[in-house]
Amino acid sequence: NLGTVGAVALDRKGNVAYATSTGGIINKMVGRVGDTPCIGSGGYADNDIGAISTTGHGESILKVNLARLTLFHIEQGKTLEEAADLSLGYMKSRLKGLGGLILVSKTGDWVVKWTSASMPWAAAKDGKLHSGIDLDETTVTDLP
Ligand code: ASP
Repeated sequence: NLGTVGAVALDRKGNVAYATSTGGIINKMVGRVGDTPCIGSGGYADNDIGAISTTGHGESILKVNLARLTLFHIEQGKTLEEAADLSLGYMKSRLKGLGGLILVSKTGDWVVKWTSASMPWAAAKDGKLHSGIDLDETTVTDLP
């Protein structure tokens, strides 16, 4: 019932897309609508920038519009890594909110970042599968 799954993709025509699904957080109020279904918070996609899916403390993610905020930083010229650090760092310093994100840019570059304890993730590009769970632990294997 809990746990979040997010995905982002870029197709060969240059279209980006995201999807985010969650069961919410522990002890959530009955009827709570979290960040996940809210465009700009649980995710965002724009062919001119990229696509992003987010996870973490929904009330914080909603307040900072984490997905759109991250893409805004890219629009302003930040690298994907810088944009992810800036938006997650802002959410942490402003609200003590922890979370994570996966992002693919319109050029096919990608980044995975989180401030929570760990976040299982995987990325496929150019015949390679990258994956990890904990900080500074990335495995790269050939895709079949
Ligand atoms: N963001 C989700 C929520 O607050 C939970 C999660 O991503 O783990 O509902």
